[in-house]
Amino acid sequence: MTASIIDGKAFAENIRGAVTRDVASLKNKHDIQPGLAVVIVGDDPASQVYVRNKVKQTAEVGMNGFHFHMDDTVSEAELIAKVTELNNDPAVNGILVQLPLPDHINEAAVIETIAPAKDVDGFHVVNSGLLATGGGGMVPCTPLGCLLMLQDKHGDLSGLKAVVVGRSNIVGKPMAQLLLDANCTVTIAHSRTKDLANEVAAADIVIAAVGRPEMIKGDWIKKGATVIDVGINRIPAPEKGEGKTRLVGDVAYAEASRVAGAITPVPGGVGPMTIACLLKNTVTATCKQNQIDPETLG
Ligand code: NDP
Repeated sequence: MTASIIDGKAFAENIRGAVTRDVASLKNKHDIQPGLAVVIVGDDPASQVYVRNKVKQTAEVGMNGFHFHMDDTVSEAELIAKVTELNNDPAVNGILVQLPLPDHINEAAVIETIAPAKDVDGFHVVNSGLLATGGGGMVPCTPLGCLLMLQDKHGDLSGLKAVVVGRSNIVGKPMAQLLLDANCTVTIAHSRTKDLANEVAAADIVIAAVGRPEMIKGDWIKKGATVIDVGINRIPAPEKGEGKTRLVGDVAYAEASRVAGAITPVPGGVGPMTIACLLKNTVTATCKQNQIDPETLG
């Protein structure tokens, strides 16, 4: 069996197309231009790349983009003051503070300052609480992207067995919650899980969100399962030349794609979906803030 490849790049392009239409409709019908503010602290190269892509794609879909780069010596109070200013700015519908933050800043304190209605990353406790108690809040972008790809592949997910490997607040836990809401039977695995191979082998859906290169082996995977690889790991690639590197996921892709029914590649799977869902969340937030039913757009 050779798995079909779930093309996250193409899927994300479709989402951006729908967002572009919604943004145009918000302007034409309601005279509203959604605005997304991105705050980055310091010069972490990976964060810089993410933020550049976010800013570029915000402009491409026709939204207002506000980009704030703060020095890594900024104090927690100064950062919180910036977030408060954005909370009060009516031109800003969504706020994203790029993580990680420098060690001297308490991430939770900053995230809790973001107005829940503008928290397009879905990390505020009000939004995670809403997700855990029946929905209605902002949903974290990466798990939302994974869910959309799974629903596209399977339609109804009811009754399927899912294993989520990883229990972070930004990926693993909200992912498990979304799958539970979609009526899957969900197992959450983590670093203390006793027999991970066995847990993975029982699953119709495998979500890998660990951050360990190719840790999940092909022979762990149930024949025909759908594998969503969230991991992004940079490893040495001497075959490309001295000092070169390449990206791999948390799943041993070549092995797994001989067993799985469908699989996301790395890169080109979950990654592109995350920014697309951020833009989608910004439209959702704009609609909610203006009491507009998103179904009436387009
Ligand atoms: P975290 O480091 O916050 O969490 C990793 C999780 O993996 C933890 O719950 C940890 O368990 C678990 N884990 C670690 N080692 C093992 C092991 N040997 N067996 C089983 N579980 C293990 O990472 P994130 O959730 O933030 O990110 C996970 C990966 O996803 C990373 O590669 C990251 O780069 C990528 N990512 C990709 C995104 C995208 O857009 N595609 C967006 C966000 C993240 P424990 O809790 O017990 O320590």
